[in-house]
Amino acid sequence: MTQPHRPRPERADSPELAAFRQLKAAQPELAGAVDMQVELFVMQRRVQARLSTPWLEFDAAWLARQLGEGRPILRFEEIPFEWGEFRTLFRQASEVLRRYDLLEPSDLDCVQELIRTGRPSRDDVASWYEETASRRIGRPSVVPSQPEAIGQVLALSARPFLARTVETLHQRVDLAPWTRPYCPFCGGDAELALVLRPGEMRLACGRCTGVWPFPEHACPHCDNRIPRYQTSYASRNGRYRLIGCDACRRYIKAFDARKADRPFMLDVDTIATLPLDAAALQRGYLS
Ligand SMILES: [Zn+2]
Ligand SMILES: [Zn+2]
Repeated sequence: MTQPHRPRPERADSPELAAFRQLKAAQPELAGAVDMQVELFVMQRRVQARLSTPWLEFDAAWLARQLGEGRPILRFEEIPFEWGEFRTLFRQASEVLRRYDLLEPSDLDCVQELIRTGRPSRDDVASWYEETASRRIGRPSVVPSQPEAIGQVLALSARPFLARTVETLHQRVDLAPWTRPYCPFCGGDAELALVLRPGEMRLACGRCTGVWPFPEHACPHCDNRIPRYQTSYASRNGRYRLIGCDACRRYIKAFDARKADRPFMLDVDTIATLPLDAAALQRGYLS
């Protein structure tokens, strides 16, 4: 069941686009990455704005069981994909990545073959989605069925549909029982962390944009929860932190809401934190 369609036209002055402009002015070395992200962002938002609001009904007992057992709750068949829109976005997103030299010739061949044969099909997208959504529920991790770059293009194309669904779930699902390092909605990995106040942290999913609570001193990679096993560094403007885990030597980047003059914006903050990856590498951490 869906609610009546409410169009939300893309505004040229959206807060994200203003933040992208500010970022480019402040850090001209990020201009190429910002330009690419803006192109993808505008494409994705255009699709997202046209989607009607999915209305999902969850049985309370089922929901409590899923969350308690660490199983993501968003099932593929509940995501309101529109396959024409999806394939258009797949073509456009791959074209953007090609222009910014992010696709190898073999990946490009693979993309073009998919497009030529009218794919990705519903089944292609379903298996891509399930590989991540199901890998956490007791099955051995699967080898992705497509090259990594194709997975990236699929993720960019699926993003508006996933984000639109998760947007409506945030208001209705109590995530308090969930403290896993992966997304309670789609099983995706944490892209960034958010530090809200001392003792209160959230993780944000790079796949569906879902946000969930996570213990402040836990590692989203190895899930170790040993106190004082983390080293945290602030960015020069204080808005971001690099949090390294001294157990697994991996790291997560965080948006520090206490030091920021605007709300968290996943698309913008992902690009703004790119310099922290180099800083992490210098300190011997792996992504
Ligand atoms: Zn997710
Ligand atoms: Zn760790």
